[in-house]
Amino acid sequence: MTNVTMKDKKRIVVKVGTSSLVHEETGLMDLNKFEKLVRSLTDLHNSGKEVILVSSGAIAVGVKRLGLKEKPAEKSGKQACAAVGQANLMMLYQKIFGEYGVTAAQILITKYTMIEDVSRRNARATFAELLKMGVIPVVNENDTVSTDEIEFGDNDTLSAIVAALVGADLLILLSDIDGLYSDDPRKSKDARFIERVERIDEKILAMGKGAGSAVGTGGMCTKIEAARIATDSGADMVIASGDDMGIINRILSGEKVGTLFEAHKNDDFHLINYLSNSHKE
Ligand code: GLU
Repeated sequence: MTNVTMKDKKRIVVKVGTSSLVHEETGLMDLNKFEKLVRSLTDLHNSGKEVILVSSGAIAVGVKRLGLKEKPAEKSGKQACAAVGQANLMMLYQKIFGEYGVTAAQILITKYTMIEDVSRRNARATFAELLKMGVIPVVNENDTVSTDEIEFGDNDTLSAIVAALVGADLLILLSDIDGLYSDDPRKSKDARFIERVERIDEKILAMGKGAGSAVGTGGMCTKIEAARIATDSGADMVIASGDDMGIINRILSGEKVGTLFEAHKNDDFHLINYLSNSHKE
């Protein structure tokens, strides 16, 4: 059980999945959602919080921008889409944040950035500097250069690693599911909504199997893995629906929405050990 209430959170990482940023029917950008997301984050920023956004969507946006019918099967095709889409995403973020008088910065990360001591330290220092300058960093995996062996692959894990790196006290994952269920709610009528998770045990891990999304790459499994990293590093984590971006402010004002995974700083958790163990050669 954490002592700090949601209202007292200072450094917050918000992750939005692709499914929360594009129209389900067409795959094109949902501009209202972008607008509301940026507005909500700016409001947090204006209230004195430090905010980091981890945004997916580069590949999906690139696919549309290039006029392709679907995500290419081969790696180089996906990487080309990411190169186009990431630039497009940042253009939009800079524009909308700019309209609210806030500067957004782009940080692209690969697993190497995190495994390698010097680049990890540089990344941490850059985050600190940007936050000090009142800038909102917008993070994604550097999909254009990541390889199969060395990619995070999903931004759930990436956002938890960013939260651990910067010592955030809250991570919010917004996706197309409103939280953790005892079973896949799309398949089972008996699925129970879980409001609070104090410990990630075998039962919770089992609940994570199955639920996933059509356009993103993370499922509930990667969200629970993210919760393990975030809560071990001392951050609370909330999984909530990205249908209405106003939910970010509701979470911060203490409303009980989504599933809360409670922080429990684990002194044996070291980011670098976690990364080395998860690194598949
Ligand atoms: N980095 C990927 C992108 O921007 C998204 C990964 C994910 O869906 O979690 O397209």
